[in-house]
Amino acid sequence: MSENSRQRLALLGSTGSIGTQALEVVAAHPGRFEVTVLSAHKNVELLAQQARAVGARLAITTDESRYETLKQLLDGSGIEVGAGQSALQEAVQRPDVDTVLGAIVGFAGLQSTLAAIEAGKKIALANKETLVVAGELVMKRAAETGAQILPVDSEHSALFQCLVGEDPDAVEKIMLTASGGPFLGRKPNYLVNVKASHALQHPNWTMGAKISIDSATLMNKGLEMIEAKWLFGLRDEQIEVVVHPQSIVHSLVQFCDGSLKAQLGLPDMKLPIQYALAYPQRLPNTFKRFDFKDYGKLTFEAPDLKTFRNLALAIEAMNGGGNMPCILNAANEVVVGAFLQNKIGFLEMSETIESVLQGVPFVAHPDLQALEDSDTEARYVAAELVKKSALTNY
Ligand code: NDP
Ligand code: MG
Repeated sequence: MSENSRQRLALLGSTGSIGTQALEVVAAHPGRFEVTVLSAHKNVELLAQQARAVGARLAITTDESRYETLKQLLDGSGIEVGAGQSALQEAVQRPDVDTVLGAIVGFAGLQSTLAAIEAGKKIALANKETLVVAGELVMKRAAETGAQILPVDSEHSALFQCLVGEDPDAVEKIMLTASGGPFLGRKPNYLVNVKASHALQHPNWTMGAKISIDSATLMNKGLEMIEAKWLFGLRDEQIEVVVHPQSIVHSLVQFCDGSLKAQLGLPDMKLPIQYALAYPQRLPNTFKRFDFKDYGKLTFEAPDLKTFRNLALAIEAMNGGGNMPCILNAANEVVVGAFLQNKIGFLEMSETIESVLQGVPFVAHPDLQALEDSDTEARYVAAELVKKSALTNY
């Protein structure tokens, strides 16, 4: 496909925060993109509405129990309907799909990303958990099939943009910026009482529930360190985190001559989504622009690893390697779900993840099956711990 022709998209997770913003990007560039496939899990009402609005060819619900409802909702539209993971994996390999947006949340996004890699597609990847769990396998396979993985995560998009035209060997280190989330500066005596409703109020970004909690605990930044490691082929000691509450500097690269390059912009996910979808083109748009007059100060500080222990645990998992990031991710998905349902407290999330990391056997060189097994076991151990803790405290 030439870079200027119409690009055919499969938007996985189209009903989520990233998915709906991707559709806004598509709508902002009439004629540039065509949506072939859309997928959602439970929200088939919105999925059907989106599919009709963009004239998709195929709409998939990964929750098979919603298939009949989706079918009814799309009756008479001529839009094909599919259900389940296997339908998703087939869909991303269709010849009428050029680019796959991976915007499913969590481990659930792994298989479809791998299927897109097998078909050598261009992949705009928001689903960072895929790289946390299986970054080594994913990047290796992508290099073999020629699938191009372009980051959607704002920090990684920033790093990618800073690295265009640079020699990867000239990178000394990278600095991932973190907003610090809604509890920046807070200490454990405060955090012990916070509830999900409070943690969901992010100061700069409106995102899905899971990543909002991850931002509040700083687990998001830990996941992003691991994501960066695999995306850019870095050593652990080359990856640093700096808290920057205004979320204007989206990340920085430091080169071997001491020079720093940063990418800046307003906190708006439509930018990195558009950059990944249109790459290597930069498309003009009318999104709101940054104005220095709106920001008196841009500030930077070190993260508080003692209070926000999830970040320390993620670094430990990254350093440990093997299946540790997979265990960390699975435990985190379980505790975030439990916290959202008020079953455990904010600080208990870290305690549980730490116990799960110790409780699931270490595998130094896991293949895909070993990763799936580690994920299942870690979820089980985490769920048991959550049950116990909920009985004791709530
Ligand atoms: P949301 O929760 O808003 O959306 C998730 C999407 O995935 C929805 O379409 C949802 O469908 C679908 N989904 C949920 N569970 C499953 C499942 N088991 N199988 C298949 N599909 C499923 O998440 P976000 O859009 O916030 O995040 C998506 C990904 O992008 C995450 O990995 C996140 O870390 C990453 N990301 C997000 C950013 C943001 O600003 N939101 C920024 C950077 C990265 P349904 O609606 O039907 O439940
Ligand atoms: Mg991010």
